[in-house]
Amino acid sequence: MCCAANKNKELIKLLQRAYSEELLASYQYWLGAQVAEGACLDETKSELLEHYEEEFEHAKLLSDKIIALGGSPVITPREWYDHAPEGFAAPSDPQTKTLLEQNIKGEQGAIGFYNEILEFLGECDCSTYKMIEQIRNDEIKHEEDLTGILNKL
Ligand code: FE
Ligand code: FE
Ligand code: MG
Repeated sequence: MCCAANKNKELIKLLQRAYSEELLASYQYWLGAQVAEGACLDETKSELLEHYEEEFEHAKLLSDKIIALGGSPVITPREWYDHAPEGFAAPSDPQTKTLLEQNIKGEQGAIGFYNEILEFLGECDCSTYKMIEQIRNDEIKHEEDLTGILNKL
């Protein structure tokens, strides 16, 4: 760990937002799979459930890192929204097309945010950089997987 103390504090805040977004995204995927209706149903549901698990894994990685940096993961669900006010899109229209579009938008937001964290880190903390880069690459794959299904509808 080579960050100056003030930068470390800012990093923890960024990771807390990422952690909150991952948990909200994970729930959005799980709930989407529950309520989904329409075309390419089985394929959409299994992709959503796969991403539900992968977003939860991202939350776990982020929680471990926040604790390792001396911070605390966000400890109440109410605070997830404080950290990530745009982190959840309710599946009020259960059509697969709408769910896929909502989740693609979420992935694009996540990719942009992880790129911001990478920019913030620069050469500052190698292990955190590698972790965020790996998560960002997973989000790129998520976006591609969802777009692949959407293009078949
Ligand atoms: Fe994720
Ligand atoms: Fe994702
Ligand atoms: Mg996938």
